[in-house]
Amino acid sequence: MSDQCVFCKIINKEIQSDIRYEDDQVVVIRDINPQTPSHLLILPKVHISGMDTLTPEQSPIIAHIALVAKKLASQEGLSESGWRLVVNCGQDAKQTVFHLHVHILGGRPMTGQLA
Ligand code: AMP
Ligand code: ZN
Repeated sequence: MSDQCVFCKIINKEIQSDIRYEDDQVVVIRDINPQTPSHLLILPKVHISGMDTLTPEQSPIIAHIALVAKKLASQEGLSESGWRLVVNCGQDAKQTVFHLHVHILGGRPMTGQLA
């Protein structure tokens, strides 16, 4: 838990959000400013500022996030049409919230191949 972190506050239910899924390791919310018709954010419950600070001990969370992404993409009805996972890390990637999160994007064809 980091005191000023908006995603920690969402995880602790101090800030309202549209929670789509929760287990002992992650919370999945709908993005407040969706970039695609389906736009979810997978938040690990432990505060990790970003991919660049992930430690070997914390790394199993990434495998768990991958399985949650698959489950939620299916729940959103994206399995057939396809979906994309995005993690922004640092300035050039335009990371704005410094609590590790994985975007699930889908519901329309993507406009670019990557960036
Ligand atoms: P990033 O650029 O990867 O750091 O993306 C952060 C994402 O968090 C953006 O897509 C924001 O729209 C989203 N976001 C910020 N605050 C909230 C919030 N309170 N509830 C839901 N999504 C949020
Ligand atoms: Zn946090």
